[in-house]
Amino acid sequence: MELTDIKGVGPKMLNNLHTLNIYTLEDLLTYFPYRYDLFEPATLDANYNNERIAINVEVTTTPTTAYIKRNFNKLQFRCEHNQKSMYAVIFNRAFLKPHITLGKTITLIGKYNLNKNTFICDDIKLTPLTNKEIIPIYHTNKNLKNNDLRKIISSALMDASALKNYIPEPLLEKYEMPSKKQALRMLHEPHNFNEAKKAIFFFKYEELFLFMFKVNYMKQAQENISKEAKHFSPQMVNNFIKSLPFTLTTSQEEALALILADLKSYKKMNRLVLGDVGSGKTIISFIAMYANFLAGYQSVLMTPTEVLARQHYESALNYFKNTNLKIGLLVGNQPKKEKEEILTNLLSGEYDILIGTHAIIEENVKFYRLGLVITDEQHRFGVKQREVLKSKGEVPDALYMSATPIPRSYALTIYGDLDVSFITHKPMGRKEIITKIKKYSELKDVLSHILEEIKNNHQVYVVASLIDDNEELDLKSVGLLKEKFNLAFNNKIPIEVLHGKLKASEKEAIMERFKNNETKILISTTVIEVGVDVKNATIMVIFDADRFGLATLHQLRGRVGRNNLDSYCYLICDHEIERLKVLEESNDGFYISEKDLELRGAGDLFGIRQSGIKTFKIANLKTDAKILMQAKADSEEYLNSKEYKNNLSYYQILKELSHLN
Ligand code: ADP
Ligand code: MG
Repeated sequence: MELTDIKGVGPKMLNNLHTLNIYTLEDLLTYFPYRYDLFEPATLDANYNNERIAINVEVTTTPTTAYIKRNFNKLQFRCEHNQKSMYAVIFNRAFLKPHITLGKTITLIGKYNLNKNTFICDDIKLTPLTNKEIIPIYHTNKNLKNNDLRKIISSALMDASALKNYIPEPLLEKYEMPSKKQALRMLHEPHNFNEAKKAIFFFKYEELFLFMFKVNYMKQAQENISKEAKHFSPQMVNNFIKSLPFTLTTSQEEALALILADLKSYKKMNRLVLGDVGSGKTIISFIAMYANFLAGYQSVLMTPTEVLARQHYESALNYFKNTNLKIGLLVGNQPKKEKEEILTNLLSGEYDILIGTHAIIEENVKFYRLGLVITDEQHRFGVKQREVLKSKGEVPDALYMSATPIPRSYALTIYGDLDVSFITHKPMGRKEIITKIKKYSELKDVLSHILEEIKNNHQVYVVASLIDDNEELDLKSVGLLKEKFNLAFNNKIPIEVLHGKLKASEKEAIMERFKNNETKILISTTVIEVGVDVKNATIMVIFDADRFGLATLHQLRGRVGRNNLDSYCYLICDHEIERLKVLEESNDGFYISEKDLELRGAGDLFGIRQSGIKTFKIANLKTDAKILMQAKADSEEYLNSKEYKNNLSYYQILKELSHLN
């Protein structure tokens, strides 16, 4: 069934539908209205108070049309309503003229202007309203008006039974839900609000059920994958932990214990470690890699940026310096010879650990015996990239790390196919990052504080707001800031600029100088945002902070406060102060994520780019949390039921959906 098979869809309409991203019958029928308008024929009387209403009138003069400008015309006629004569006016509907004939009864929708005795219509119904009517309102554009879309959907409804029903029969019964065909009719042509509500529930439930079903299905599939158990000496792992310059937090110990148990088990590990920025996830992954090495396997750690890969590489060299473990680094543009050597060492088993950017998923990167795959900042990667990485070993254990602060209940649901460990506490001695919102007019205060910190031999990050999309602007803005700072500090302070357009080697050199405290102020675009660890930095200044989501801001400020020094974050902006206050009040990533969710609602979930978290078409994880939990329980039950096992078509559906993610 194609869109063009629907009555009223010709080539032009087809194009118009495409502008709304409607390509299939299913797209069209599940194009959800965003609200409903209620109309019932009203009587205009002395109580009228300038609201939008619908009235039935009798046409008493033939309309006249005036063409005011190109693309702008006015249709006017006299009519009678409730024994009162008045004018009616509507703009840009000259084409209605032949249909508005003397003596005809029609419905005007709009507002009445008493002074001019004129009813200004925004819509006219040639078939008069007799009863209440509920009109769905869709997001449309200038090519396709609401009414036209309604007509097309109305004819498409005749073929509604062609759409697959995704909610299993027993559940339709359990919730006394209509059939999908009925639900679609109730959605687009409801007789009353109750029907519309029922329909909306149906589609939210369907979306969440399918999602949770898939999550549970994947979880079960995972549980059936076995691998060789890994044997290593707990004593040696403990010795390594003792060699660290700090003791692990209880949270870290708990997460680690589970990871080590996963490694030892015959079941393939599939674990996500969720912990706020600075909670110390890296060292946990290193310990896991050490145990994996003791068991005779190679490990790989993938990071989203080169800066981060190099940082991890250096820390690894440092932590493992008293072991005989060998580490390689693979990033985008290394010299060919160097790269070849690395690849050889990997394949021969010379390297025990490979750290790198997504360069490591390239086809020519082959391992001798890969046993553990770790992705840092996993939300930055697509599902595909993670899958390719895993395919480089036979059945490697998989560990994901993320600072995506999401409320626990959602995490357990959305990541239901993974085992999730939460790192809830930060290392002892960490102080809260003192956060202040400052107007541009208060920049002086910030500058003098910066100077003070630098005099105390500390360092400063500055983040310029402009989004990476527009690199040109980006360059200008960070460059401009550098000029301003140089001016303010009389060129006396070493300042460097870091942005995405620089060559990898330049970026590396800049980071190196900052780490070595040669540079005092690092001005950057958000390339700095993930993972970087320079303990001596005590101030983070973020310009145009209102352009970022709370979660991103929290991540950014997590670059400071990595030791026991007092650390500060300044959010410079003149707008949206209310929203940003959450950051002044709290340093708790999980709390901030809840607030972010509350304030921003659906759509841009948690303000995280490419979150890897599915966004929904009609359901909203915040407001529909109850339906989500219901769908979770129902889908688990259904997956284990006889009905499911006998319902082969459901396998089919799953297969078709497996491209979603
Ligand atoms: P994140 O969880 O954001 O990836 P990191 O792993 O980068 O955090 O850790 C942040 C800093 O905390 C690092 O400098 C690390 O050495 C340090 N760290 C990690 N664990 C501890 C601990 N138990 N005690 C003290 N410092 C720690
Ligand atoms: Mg990290």
